[in-house]
Amino acid sequence: MDERVEQPNHIDPEYATAWMADGTCRNYPPAMFFPSDGVGVDRARKICKDCPVAGTCLEYALEQRIEHGVWGGCSERERRRILKRRKIAVSPRGHLAVEPVT
Ligand code: SF4
Repeated sequence: MDERVEQPNHIDPEYATAWMADGTCRNYPPAMFFPSDGVGVDRARKICKDCPVAGTCLEYALEQRIEHGVWGGCSERERRRILKRRKIAVSPRGHLAVEPVT
C-alpha cells in the first residue's frame, strides 16, 4: 500500500505560487496590474483574459484576501463581490445558507 499523502498546494508557499511563472503578466510591467482608474483596469483585464492560469490566479487572490490590483481578470471590487456572494452561499459551518421562501 502506498503510504504517501499528497500535500495540498497551500501548505508549501513556493508551490502555491509556482503558477505565477506561467502568467501572461510576466511579460508586462507589474504596475499595469495595479491601475489607478477604470481604463487601467480594462487594460489589465484584457491581458488576463487569455492567461492560461487566470483561474488559479483569481482563486489565489480570493484565498489570500488580496485587496489591490487586478488578479485573474478581476478588479478589487469584483473580488469583493465574489467573496460576498460566497459568504452568503456558505454558512460558517460550511453548509449552504438557503433563505426560506415566504
Ligand atoms: S490572470 Fe492576469 S494577473 Fe493573473 S497571472 Fe494571468 S495575467 Fe497575471
